[in-house]
Amino acid sequence: MVCGVTDGLEFHHKNPADKEFVVAKMLSWCWERIVLELDKCELRCGAHHHDEHSIRHGTHQMYRSGCRCEACIEEPRRWNREYKRVRRLTDLGYGRRREGAG
Ligand SMILES: [Zn+2]
Ligand SMILES: [Zn+2]
Ligand SMILES: [Zn+2]
Repeated sequence: MVCGVTDGLEFHHKNPADKEFVVAKMLSWCWERIVLELDKCELRCGAHHHDEHSIRHGTHQMYRSGCRCEACIEEPRRWNREYKRVRRLTDLGYGRRREGAG
C-alpha cells in the first residue's frame, strides 16, 4: 500500500485489460478467488487509484487534451528540439552520401 489509507481501497490490475473490482464487492467472494485476484493486483486507495488512471502532465496526451501547464507546454518543445536534432543528423548523413556519389 502506498499511503496507508485503509478506507475505500480498490484493486489496480497490473494488466490493464483485466476488469477491476472495488474491494467491498469482493468481500462476498470466496477467499481463494480473492487471493487469486490479489495476485494480479496492487491495492490503491480511491484517490491514488484515480491518479493511476488519469493522464499525467508533461505528456503529449495531456497537451492534446488542452492542458497548457508548464510541464505540458515543455513536452512538445522538448520533442521539437529532439526532432530537429535528429533531422540535422540525418541531413548530415544524406550530405555525406551525396558527396560520395558525386
Ligand atoms: Zn486501476
Ligand atoms: Zn493512496
Ligand atoms: Zn498539464
